[in-house]
Amino acid sequence: MSYLPFEIIAKKRDGQPLSSDEIKFFISEYLKSTIPDYQMAAMLMAIYFRGMNETELHTLVEEMLHSGDTIELSEIPGIKVDKHSTGGVGDKVSLILAPLVAAAGVPVPMISGRGLGHTGGTLDKLEAIPGYRTQLSIEEFKAILKQGGFAMMGQTENIVPADRRLYALRSATATINSVPLVAGSIMSKKIAEGIQALVLDVKTGSGAFFPEEKEAILLGQTLRAVGERAGVRTEAFLTGMEQPLGRTAGNWLEVVESVDCLRGAGPADVKEVTFLLGRWMLILGGRAKSEAEAQEKLESALNSGAAYEKFLKNVELQGGDPSVFDRMESYPLPKPVPIEAESSGFVKAINALEIGMATVAAGAGRNRMEDSVDPGAGVVLEKKVSDVVEKGEILAWLYTRKSDVSGLASRVKKAISIGREKVKPPKLLKGRITDSGVEPLKAVS
Ligand code: URA
Repeated sequence: MSYLPFEIIAKKRDGQPLSSDEIKFFISEYLKSTIPDYQMAAMLMAIYFRGMNETELHTLVEEMLHSGDTIELSEIPGIKVDKHSTGGVGDKVSLILAPLVAAAGVPVPMISGRGLGHTGGTLDKLEAIPGYRTQLSIEEFKAILKQGGFAMMGQTENIVPADRRLYALRSATATINSVPLVAGSIMSKKIAEGIQALVLDVKTGSGAFFPEEKEAILLGQTLRAVGERAGVRTEAFLTGMEQPLGRTAGNWLEVVESVDCLRGAGPADVKEVTFLLGRWMLILGGRAKSEAEAQEKLESALNSGAAYEKFLKNVELQGGDPSVFDRMESYPLPKPVPIEAESSGFVKAINALEIGMATVAAGAGRNRMEDSVDPGAGVVLEKKVSDVVEKGEILAWLYTRKSDVSGLASRVKKAISIGREKVKPPKLLKGRITDSGVEPLKAVS
C-alpha cells in the first residue's frame, strides 16, 4: 500500500493515531531513503508532541526490530536475562551485575551503548580495560556467552539499523526525550538480543534523562508494556540519580570501583542497586523463587569469589588482560587535582548532571560520536550527600589531561553544595514500577 508521507505526518501532527500500515510504510520507506530525513524529522517532532498509543508503539518496535538481524540464542541452555539502565552518572552496575548473575547460573547476553550526553556508557568503561573488545560478531558473542556465562558487546551494523539512523536524526532535531521514541529505541535493541526476560533500572533525579519522577515512571511503564507484549518478561524499578552512584565517574575509575565491589568491598549504594536488579534477574531466570533466596545466592556468588572469577574470565575471553587487575595502581592516570571545601557543614546536594557534564568535559565522554575518550579521565568523590565536611577538606578529585583544569575543577566544586543543616541522603531504591504506579520494595532479610 502506498501513502503520501506528508499526509501521514499531518495526521500525527493533528493528534490522530496512525495505522500499523502507515507506520510500517513510513519506517520502511525511510530506510530505503525514499522518505528523506526532513520528512522523518517532521514525523519525529510530531511524535514528540503527540506521543503514540500502545498499538502504534508496538508496530514501531516491530518495524525497528525487523529492520535488521535478531540473535537466536536457543542453543544456549537456560532463560537468558538482561538488564538495562536508562542511564546515569557513575552507573557502573552492569560491570558487577553481569558476572554476579552469571555466577548464580543465569546467562546474561548484554548489548550496551556508549556514553550519551552527560551519562557514561558500559562500552566505554569496558574498553578502558587494555585489549578488551566490544565489537564482536554475533558468533563470537554467542561463543563467549556459552563459555563464560555472560557476554558484552556493542550494537553491530545489522542489529536494529533503523535505530542507528533514527537516533542520529533525533540527536540533531531535539527529539531524544520522547517516551515512545526512547522506548522504541531501547526495546527494539533489547528484544533483538534473543532474551526471554529483562530487568530495567529506570533512573530519576538530576542526572537522569527524565529527571521528573512522573515521567520516569511513565517511561518504565511503557518499557514494561512493550517488553511484555513482545513476549519478554519485563520488570522495572525506579532508582534515584539525584547524586552520582558510588564514588567514581569516568571509565577506568569506574572499572576500579566495580572490581572493588566484585572483591567484596565497594560503596554500599552501588551494591544496593546491583543486588536489587540481580535478585529479579535470578527470579525471572528461574534460579530463585523469592527475593530472599535470590539474595542468598547472589551473596554466596560474591563472597566465594565466583562472581569475580566470572568477570576475569570474561575479560580474557573478550581479549583483555586480566593481570591488569593485579596492578591497578600502575594504570596511566592523569595527575589528580584536589577539590577542597570552602566552608564547613554537611554535603547538601551533589548535582549528578553537573558532575556528569564535568566528567565528559574532563575527557571521559564525547561531544560528537566520532570523538575518542580518555579512559583515565573522571571524578572521584570523597564526600557524598549527608557527609560532614570541614573547610579545606577534600570533597573530590578531578582527573583530566585537558588544559582548562581550573575551569573544570570549579565546575566540580559548584556541583557540590554544602549547608549548615544535617540532611538525609536521597532515597535510592524508590520502588517497583507497576501498571498503576510504584509499589514499595519489600525488605529482604
Ligand atoms: N538509550 C537508547 O538506546 N535510546 C534512547 O533513545 C535513549 C537512551
